[in-house]
Amino acid sequence: MDKPIQSGEDYRESLRNRNIKLYLFGELIKSPVNHPIIKPSINALAKTYDLANEDEELATAYSSIIGKRVNRFLHVAEKPEDLVFQNKMQRRLGQLTGTCFQRCVGMDALNTLHSITFDIDKKYHTSYHQNFLGFLKMAQENNVVIGGAMTDPKGDRSKKPHEQEDPDLYVHVVERTDNGIYIKGAKAHQTGCINSHWLIIMPNTSLSEEDKDYAIVGAIPVDAPNITYIYGRQSNDLRHLEGSQIDTGNFSFSGQEALIIFDRVFIPNNLIFLNGEYEFAAPLIDRFTNYHRRSYVCKTGLGDVLIGAAATIADYNGVPKVAHVKDKLVEMNCLNETIYGTGIASSYQSYQLDSGAWICDEILSNTCKQHVTRFPYEICRLAQDIAGGLMVTLPSEKDFKNEEESPLLHKYLKGRKDVLVENRVRILRLIENMTLGRNAVAYLTESMHGAGSPQAQRIVLFRKMELEFKKKLSQNLAGIEIEKKTINEFPQFYKRVFSKD
Ligand SMILES: Cc1cc2nc3c(=O)[nH]c(=O)nc-3n(C[C@H](O)[C@H](O)[C@H](O)COP(=O)(O)OP(=O)(O)OC[C@H]3O[C@@H](n4cnc5c(N)ncnc54)[C@H](O)[C@@H]3O)c2cc1C
Ligand code: SF4
Repeated sequence: MDKPIQSGEDYRESLRNRNIKLYLFGELIKSPVNHPIIKPSINALAKTYDLANEDEELATAYSSIIGKRVNRFLHVAEKPEDLVFQNKMQRRLGQLTGTCFQRCVGMDALNTLHSITFDIDKKYHTSYHQNFLGFLKMAQENNVVIGGAMTDPKGDRSKKPHEQEDPDLYVHVVERTDNGIYIKGAKAHQTGCINSHWLIIMPNTSLSEEDKDYAIVGAIPVDAPNITYIYGRQSNDLRHLEGSQIDTGNFSFSGQEALIIFDRVFIPNNLIFLNGEYEFAAPLIDRFTNYHRRSYVCKTGLGDVLIGAAATIADYNGVPKVAHVKDKLVEMNCLNETIYGTGIASSYQSYQLDSGAWICDEILSNTCKQHVTRFPYEICRLAQDIAGGLMVTLPSEKDFKNEEESPLLHKYLKGRKDVLVENRVRILRLIENMTLGRNAVAYLTESMHGAGSPQAQRIVLFRKMELEFKKKLSQNLAGIEIEKKTINEFPQFYKRVFSKD
């Protein structure tokens, strides 16, 4: 990279002329930057650069690692406010794009690896933390995008990596040399990977000694040799090829996911952050999901957009003051703010790890993500209720442009007298886009499975909910004889709840 990326436009330029093997609809794509289906996802990511210029406090942070302000997506939290501001930035970007802006997996991976590499070095006197800091400095100086690649295809879900019939269903080391390692396998559903400059690969499950070759973390340039990308299509994505803007619902912005296949991809020693220390896979996943599950506060920004769209269509239809509509809008807001409340509380109630990095509260971050797996679905249901059926029976933009149909459509699809039919159609298409079209990928299914399916959060909550302490509280009040000190010795979560700091 010749000079640091400073704006959305610089960022778009940085993606040109890369030698990437990318398939979409069965064809190799030479120039992803100009592809009408891919372009909206690049626009969404470009917003992370533009916001940093427009609102420095929100989207940049002072990094003691390079001694200057850096894009917040590349910053390792040095105090609780850093985590809180990550959430605020995520909500704002969700509001501005109405989709997934793709840069948080990398941010959460960097925050995780700061402490994990430190902890491995402490145990084994390895040099992963230095490797990591070297990489982080480069990333911060150049202001690059990092994709976080954790999810393997996983094959038979009941089997561990070494038990799979095909060993490549989890990414693993196939050769070790003096200079580095070669890896093989794939990562699935990778958000923004083609829009990134670097990938950080991480294990996807806790590992045992037999899985040692699967215990690998390292950084790889997106355009490294021997990588194939296969683009994931999204609902209604072909509308971006129709030359129609209105029918897309959100012409400018979308998310991006792809399957990444590694066929003997080389990682040099200085870009390896874990290599064989299998017992660190579980804490790595715990910390990453802790950060990432409250990053899903991003969805409250999308919620703000959809609530606004529902209120607008109620207005256009002439029912803004009707009691049940107002009540539904209140309910949508309540659900949205409940997500925000748990996410931001998780960031406020953070604590410092040995490496110096701060990490959020896992009970609250998992509660936040558990809400995210449910509330956006209810918010969408209410938005569709308020929108009316026209949202899914609207004729196409081409029909509106047809001379014969146009007067008929303008006559019969009129809502309130002073509202343009076109505006009514536009807002309905946006609701369609977010509730069952292209950005429903980001608002719904990504909310369900991204950062782990719902059960994954419930497992953590069961493990961490400190039931023994709660049992003692109840037994004490019920007059059952207990050792009194057990209700005054706080376990971890309550130490944070009642901390005086
Ligand atoms: C839009 C989108 C973007 C994403 N972006 C990224 C990304 O950038 N980086 C990344 O690394 N990952 C990403 N993911 C992946 C995400 O983390 C996974 O989808 C998630 O972990 C679930 O894995 P899966 O999709 O393979 O579903 P599965 O694992 O097949 O899960 C399906 C169901 O089976 C259950 N299940 C699966 N295995 C078991 C088991 N052993 N025991 C009991 N129940 C089980 C699950 O709980 C779930 O209910 C993304 C996913 C989506 C949808
Ligand atoms: S789903 Fe949200 S948290 Fe994850 S990368 Fe997209 S915008 Fe960021």
